[in-house]
Amino acid sequence: MDVRILGCHGSQLPGYNPTSFLLDGVILLDAGTITSVLSIEEQINISYILVTHAHLDHVRDIMFLADNVYYSKKENPAVKVIGTQGVIDALRAHLFNNVIWPDFSVIPTQENHVLRFEVIKPGVKFQLNNLTVTAVMVNHTVETVGYVIESESGSVIFIGDTGPTEEIWEVARKLKNLKAVFIEASLPDSMEEAANITGHLTPAGLDRELKKLGALTPDIYLFHMKPQYEKTIREEIGLIRNNAIHILSEGEEIRIE
Ligand SMILES: [Zn+2]
Ligand SMILES: [Zn+2]
Repeated sequence: MDVRILGCHGSQLPGYNPTSFLLDGVILLDAGTITSVLSIEEQINISYILVTHAHLDHVRDIMFLADNVYYSKKENPAVKVIGTQGVIDALRAHLFNNVIWPDFSVIPTQENHVLRFEVIKPGVKFQLNNLTVTAVMVNHTVETVGYVIESESGSVIFIGDTGPTEEIWEVARKLKNLKAVFIEASLPDSMEEAANITGHLTPAGLDRELKKLGALTPDIYLFHMKPQYEKTIREEIGLIRNNAIHILSEGEEIRIE
């Protein structure tokens, strides 16, 4: 699996973009950053968007993608926006509501639309091309899931925004051949109280979460740092002395084999 990092931060500043990972050129994992970094051809290639939760830093560019796709490929299949019921309900009610943005799930017509919203249930496996995907609830301030993606070569877990959580680690410990975990650390250790209130992890919190992997030793890819605290977070991650942790950067491409 090829993972292209379109954005890996918990907010936006010049050079720092909200979270979005492009898998094998066709599946987006969250949609905080699409249209400012992908060419129109690359945008048209996107078939699926797996959404972890409805916070704006994870969904905002679905709106601009839909607009670009509409004016570029009217006859092609819809982009499937996949999420749990609460997430899809929130996108429909608060973004694609014909007030903030047009409802691209009925544009240009009911039958031939730009976006298709698809509701999935946590814990129920589904297929995307050659990948088996399962959503697992995590612990954030709103309904949020992580995604477990299994292929013939192994498994990868993308955890959405989360504070301390349990179920996804239980799932992780049962997986065959867990190769990588993408997980957040948003705030420095000095802001643990703010992290608890906002449902995020600090480096120390991340260290506690990773111990829940038990004997497993996947690569750990870190994202969602608040840009203004990135330097401190990097220093504190260094102090954990866990060689498996790699802090992601915008534009990076990772191959998981
Ligand atoms: Zn976020
Ligand atoms: Zn969030």
